[in-house]
Amino acid sequence: MVEHQIEARGIHNPRVLAVMRDIPRHVFIPHPYDQSAYDDNPLPIGNGQTISQPYIVALMTELLHPETSDNVLEIGAGSGYQAAILSRLVQRLTTIERIPSVTILARNNLKSLGIRNVEVIEGDGTQGYPPNAPYNGIMVTAATPEIPRTLIDQLTDGGLLVAPVGGRDVQQLVTLEKQGSIMIPQYHGWVRFVPLIGKHGWEN
Ligand code: SAM
Repeated sequence: MVEHQIEARGIHNPRVLAVMRDIPRHVFIPHPYDQSAYDDNPLPIGNGQTISQPYIVALMTELLHPETSDNVLEIGAGSGYQAAILSRLVQRLTTIERIPSVTILARNNLKSLGIRNVEVIEGDGTQGYPPNAPYNGIMVTAATPEIPRTLIDQLTDGGLLVAPVGGRDVQQLVTLEKQGSIMIPQYHGWVRFVPLIGKHGWEN
């Protein structure tokens, strides 16, 4: 999976490649879809939600420039797979999930791999999570019509946010770098995510 679907498509950060090799994706995918765990596709995890495609997980992780001392926020815990990847690259990760049963799924999956530096919070991630802010990085793993100001406010100066921004069907993968009061955007191609539903996202 890593050699053919991730490295060959331009992901070069050696720490990202190493952790993508180490974390078993099948642990995060319910039967019978776990049989396709190492194909480069998103897969159902229940409740109409998905685990993202491995290449997109690797790309978003690389775009966040994770450092070992970082405090990071993920919005949309889903299966917990992206959180498991990030947990090995940063010091502390908070991940938020709006669906209660999916929150439990993420917690159980992370626990089964003995991952301890991730806090899984049930709630509306469009409001961020002020108790653990400020964050060096924020990763939004659901499609948002725009980047909520509340999230930008919870970034450190110099912090990076990565999110799929656009319509309900297709979005641009965007990074924003916070430099004082200025946000510097970069665009990284088209993606397709399930919607971010909440106060500063989609209504339903
Ligand atoms: N990162 C996940 C993984 O590794 O499996 C995949 C995320 S899935 C594409 C998007 C997730 O975002 C879904 O589980 C969905 O319930 C969640 N979500 C949608 N709106 C949300 C919100 N406002 N706050 C937190 N989670 C939200």
